[in-house]
Amino acid sequence: MDISIIVPLFNEDESLPHLAEWIDRVMNEHGFTYEVIMVDDGSKDRSWQVIEELRAKNPCYKGVKFRRNYGKSAALNVGFGHAQGDVVITMDADLQDSPDEVPELYRMIKEEGYDLVSGWKKKRYDSKLAKNIPSKFFNWTTRKMSGIKLHDFNCGLKAYRRDVVKSIEVYGEMHRYIPVIAKWAGFSKIGEKVVQHRKREFGVTKFGLNRFINGYLDLMSIMFMSKFGKQPMHFFGLVGSGSFLLGFVAFVIVCILRLCGHISLTNSVWFYVSMLFILLGAMLFLSGFLGELICRNSTTRNTYLIEKELVD
Ligand code: UDP
Ligand code: MG
Repeated sequence: MDISIIVPLFNEDESLPHLAEWIDRVMNEHGFTYEVIMVDDGSKDRSWQVIEELRAKNPCYKGVKFRRNYGKSAALNVGFGHAQGDVVITMDADLQDSPDEVPELYRMIKEEGYDLVSGWKKKRYDSKLAKNIPSKFFNWTTRKMSGIKLHDFNCGLKAYRRDVVKSIEVYGEMHRYIPVIAKWAGFSKIGEKVVQHRKREFGVTKFGLNRFINGYLDLMSIMFMSKFGKQPMHFFGLVGSGSFLLGFVAFVIVCILRLCGHISLTNSVWFYVSMLFILLGAMLFLSGFLGELICRNSTTRNTYLIEKELVD
């Protein structure tokens, strides 16, 4: 099968029939074999009935319905699990992403050898204050932190080689950082394509401003996990030892000053500061040690993504 299109959706019953018609038209024009996996993220409207109707008409349509709303990342992750096509395309359900972009995205993956191609909504049809300006800032930070040169990390329209989606896992709000996750998993050929973006015709946006707070926390955990996820001691041990050493040296100095009669221990703020650093250091060190113990017991401690093998 050439293409799997994954569509995460939450209360999008009005858009779905139009989207499906458009996808079918583009796929048939180009003669692709395809499947469309619609993941209903706990919709309360008629979305699931629409998916059932689509499937009855065309078995290329597949559907998964969550019992409640888990979020876009969860929906994508489940879609990734089911995808069978050589190239996997994700697309929002609200008709803001155009299926006309699919053939070119497919070509870039197949012929230019990209692992991942992200859409870039160069001209964006969303509210300026709530979306466009915050997302410029968001993209700038993510670019700086991850070293990936993309203009638009959070574009819903992306294409992947199948290997990529089978090797990564997204949850929480991490759909915004899939290129970062893919890069850390070893898929570094990441490209970008300017895509046309459209106004939302039906329904309302599902993401408010709180996405920025959760989004940043998720970026921190991705960066932290990829750097120290398998060796927590390398972080906690270093910071902890540093703090302990600093505290200890300060404590020795304070003691010498006390013995010379310059200060009184209980009245000196430096005595308490040195104690604080010693305790903090010991606690950080202990956290690292506990982290190592947890890693040792993890079932995935020796799971590596293998690209090629020459063994019998
Ligand atoms: N979505 C989802 N679960 C959620 C929120 C959103 O599956 O909890 C879907 C939504 O139906 C749409 C896509 O994610 O297909 C993008 O959402 P939206 O258009 O609201 O985001 P925006 O374009 O405003 O950033
Ligand atoms: Mg949208």
